[in-house]
Formats: sequence, structure tokens, C-alpha cells
Amino acid sequence: MTQLIGLYPGTFDPPTLGHVDIVERAAKLVDELVIGVAINRDKSPLFSLEERVAMVEIEMSRISKANGIPIRVVPFETLLVKFAEEMKANIIIRGLRAVSDFEYEYQMVGMNQVLNDEIETVFLMADIRYQSIASRLVKEIARLGGDISSFVPDHVAKKLKAKFSSG
Ligand code: ADP
Repeated sequence: MTQLIGLYPGTFDPPTLGHVDIVERAAKLVDELVIGVAINRDKSPLFSLEERVAMVEIEMSRISKANGIPIRVVPFETLLVKFAEEMKANIIIRGLRAVSDFEYEYQMVGMNQVLNDEIETVFLMADIRYQSIASRLVKEIARLGGDISSFVPDHVAKKLKAKFSSG
């Protein structure tokens, strides 16, 4: 039987309960999971790559233990398909929230299929409670002093508060 190695790529700026929920679901489907943290200079992330990797890692050991599969957190800057090949991933996992995500994801899958048709993209939906969570909005609420505790893990909420209180 082929080992299923999943790659869940994202910016994770910061990781939210939506991301964590997707990882929990993905961990049930594959034999091994790689969380790819994109450097993503174009998006000018609020958190540095090191901070984002560290925040994602905190969540992973619990999920890895609960599902008995290895989960690695690996930063990347290359083309997604190339990175998937390097990681020997045969499945790319993406979360799908709303119609607004669909068009971009649809185009990306189409182009990635041309680049490497052996790698399948699988879309997962988060629990209904986490569907509306977006890193961009979490940052906006935190910047304006709102309560973000329902959207992100506690350690991420602390980091966001610290980020915005230090100006
Ligand atoms: P990217 O810059 O690649 O979109 P993100 O960190 O914003 O990176 O998202 C990574 C993946 O997680 C994407 O597939 C995104 O659709 C998915 N995702 C983010 N938030 C949620 C959520 N609340 N529910 C389901 N999927 C989500």
C-alpha cells in the first residue's frame, strides 16, 4: 500500500482554530503530515516566519500523538508543487471556507495539475464553529483591542496581544 503523505500549506499568520481543525481532520486521512509554512513575502506577514513556525508547532505534538502519525512543520519559499515533491507528498490539503475561497483554489489546483498530475489536492471543511475564522480578520480584531479568544489557541491570543500592545 502506498504511504499517504499529506502537505498542508499556508501562511498561518497567525494559526487559528480553523487551521487546527483542518489539521485534526487531515491527520485522520494520511500516514504522515507536513505543515508547510509559506514565507510569503508578498503578503507582508505580521509574524516572522520563525514565530509562525513556532506557533504551529505548539499545536502539532498533541495532534500527532492523538493520531499516531508523524507531523512535521517545515518552512518553504519554493513553488508549492516543487515543495510537495521534495517532501514526497502525494496529497495537498487545503481548507475551504466559502465561495470566496473557491475561485482562487480552483485556479491553483488547475495549474498545479499541469505541473504535476500525480499530486491530488483534497479540500476539507472545518467544523461549522470555525468556518468563518480568517487570520486577516483575527489580526484586525486584535489590532482594535477586541476579544479573539474564540478564534485562536490561547498561546496565539497572547502573542497577538503582545504584538499590538508593543505598538
Ligand atoms: P494561504 O495564504 O495559503 O491562503 P492561510 O494560512 O490563510 O494561507 O490558509 C491556509 C489554508 O487553510 C487555506 O487552504 C485556507 O483556505 C485554510 N483555512 C484558513 N482558515 C480556515 C478556516 N477557518 N476553515 C477552513 N479552512 C481554513
